[in-house]
Amino acid sequence: MPPSLDPELRRALTDRVRYYNDLGIYDFYRRAVTTEASKQASNSAVLVAVVEEEDLPKLKTKSTVADPASALRLIREDIGDCTRCRLHKQGRKQIVFGVGNPRAELMFIGEAPGADEDEQGEPFVGRAGQLLNNMIKAMGIRREDVYIANIIKCRPPGNRTPERDECETCSPFLMRQIEVIGPKAIVALGAVAAKTLLAINAPMSELRGRWYDFRETKLAVTYHPAYLLRDPRQKKETWKDLQMVMKELGMQAPAKPVE
Ligand code: URA
Repeated sequence: MPPSLDPELRRALTDRVRYYNDLGIYDFYRRAVTTEASKQASNSAVLVAVVEEEDLPKLKTKSTVADPASALRLIREDIGDCTRCRLHKQGRKQIVFGVGNPRAELMFIGEAPGADEDEQGEPFVGRAGQLLNNMIKAMGIRREDVYIANIIKCRPPGNRTPERDECETCSPFLMRQIEVIGPKAIVALGAVAAKTLLAINAPMSELRGRWYDFRETKLAVTYHPAYLLRDPRQKKETWKDLQMVMKELGMQAPAKPVE
C-alpha cells in the first residue's frame, strides 16, 4: 500500500514532478536506503514515485508534455486565476500569459501588460506593441514566428513599474515558459526586463549592445518600445541591437532600420 500523503505535500510534489516533465524529464530513480540518516531522502523518493503513479496520468503523458504547446498550456493552467501577489486585487482584468510560436528561436520579454494588453489578454498590442511589430518586421520575420511575454503577467495599477516582489513571484512562470520554448536568443525590452532577468543593476546604456549567457541561451538587451515612442532618436541604437541578434541567429539583416 502506498503511504498516504499530506495533501499539501502531495500538491508540492506533483508540481515538482510536472515542472521536471515540462523540462522533458520523466524518469525518476530511487536511491537504495540503508541508513537511518537517509530515511528522509528515501521517503521523498517513495512519495515522488507515488505522485508519479497516481497523479501524472491525469495530468500529462510523456508525449503530450514533450510538445511545447501543451507544456505551455500546462504552465497556464498552473497559474490559474492567480492570486499570488497583490496585483490580482488591484484592478487587473486578466492574466496576460504570452503569445507566439511555442518553438520560437527568438523571444522578446517586456515589463508588464498595460491597459490594452489587460483588455485583450495578449502582450504588446497597444502603441508600444505596434512599434514592436515594426521592429520584428524590420528583422524580416513575423510576429507569429517569435514568442512575446512579460516579466509579470498582470497589469500594475496606473501602469506603474512592477515591484520587486511582484517580479519575484511571477517570473518563475516566465522561466518555465523559456525552458519549454528553448529559444536561441532572448531580447529583454527595457530596464525592468533586463535587470530582473540578469539580476544586474546598471543603466540601459551599459546593459545593451552585448550578449549575456542566460539559462542555456543568449540574451541581449535593448530599449523598450514605449521608451522609443518617447525618444525616437534611440531607434538607431535599437536597430544595432536587433542586427546583433539577427547575426547571431544567422538571419539575413535587411538594411532598413526600425521606423
Ligand atoms: N509594455 C510591456 O512591457 N509589455 C506589454 O505587454 C505592453 C507594454
